[in-house]
Amino acid sequence: MGRISIEHMTKRFGETVAVDDLSLEIADSEFLVLVGPSGCGKSTTLRCLAGLETPTEGDIYIAGDHMNYRVPQNRDIAMVFQDYALYPHMTVRQNIRFGLEEEEGYTKAERNDRVEQIAGTLGISDLLDRKPDELSGGQQQRVALGRAIVRDPEVFLMDEPLSNLDAKLRADMRTELQQLQNEFDVTTVYVTHNQTEAMTMSDRIAVMNDGELQQVGPPLELYHEPANRFVAGFIGEPMMNFVEGRNEDGTFVGTYVEYPFDGDIRQSVQGTDDVVLGVRPEDLEVESAEGTDPADLGGHEFLMNVSVVEPHGDQNVLHLNHPEDTDEEDLLHALTSGTNIFEAGETVVVSIDPNDVHVFDARTGDALH
Ligand code: ATP
Repeated sequence: MGRISIEHMTKRFGETVAVDDLSLEIADSEFLVLVGPSGCGKSTTLRCLAGLETPTEGDIYIAGDHMNYRVPQNRDIAMVFQDYALYPHMTVRQNIRFGLEEEEGYTKAERNDRVEQIAGTLGISDLLDRKPDELSGGQQQRVALGRAIVRDPEVFLMDEPLSNLDAKLRADMRTELQQLQNEFDVTTVYVTHNQTEAMTMSDRIAVMNDGELQQVGPPLELYHEPANRFVAGFIGEPMMNFVEGRNEDGTFVGTYVEYPFDGDIRQSVQGTDDVVLGVRPEDLEVESAEGTDPADLGGHEFLMNVSVVEPHGDQNVLHLNHPEDTDEEDLLHALTSGTNIFEAGETVVVSIDPNDVHVFDARTGDALH
């Protein structure tokens, strides 16, 4: 079956370490999404799995077989890349059938049946006799998928396959791809820059940075329990707020923000002096400060100034800074519901529930809580 094992894989290009000692197990039928900033080694990892690059060190196994030196055609994988390049002189039917070119054991009739069946699944049956230049971008993308899946491979490798599509089509194709993957039950490794794709499509997300694996886990685990500051900042939009400061006897002391750590957190941060407080914008509670006496504020509440309001329709992003120093840079961003109307220049009460607080070691970036 399509289980993939990557064991201590390093890939160097001259001085550049594109992938650094990567170990990753991908279960049969799993949908794994690889994310990370540009240049972190995602594509190189995929290209090594595909056989387009050979690892400098380490091993790759697919279905238990050693792959390092096996040519792409002998790996039982199908690839869909961003520039899916269909053959312009061939019809859709011929393009899809081309995916079976190297396959043995199919009669001509079986090949044709298979193409019809895949076209039906992808909803492009009525386009089979058209040429690629007579298709929309989304239709072309589906044909490229058809060409990849027509062989019924063990593994799909996809590198930003939806990135050329507009937002609406992207959303449709996302659902279709998920359905296809469920239907075909094929192990899939999918590279994307798109958070929504990563969060909604994957069984697990692997986050890479500088060639190194930072964390791998189900989307919500990465969201709620990021292993380090990098993952915390990478997963979730808008990005998690980070405030640097010191742990002074169980109280966080940063610029303007002072926050007493409660029981559990207090224990986790014990012994670490330089810390970073992390709170997701959606976890900040914001209320109007009208009629609030600052003396009545609890330890987990702050007065802040709304410096900018970014309306997004159903939600607003509030930029918050120091209430008495309103020209200072923003300290926090909050996500509030669209019906909650605040105005720039307004003073608000911001509260942070201790259950929503993350704390990182400022030196290593590792999560303490
Ligand atoms: P992006 O999101 O921008 O596509 P990525 O995470 O896919 O980036 P890779 O393409 O895997 O990153 O590149 C990782 C590193 O390896 C980068 O520093 C890149 O410049 C380098 N690199 C990749 N391919 C080669 C190559 N053929 N020769 C030299 N360096 C390369």
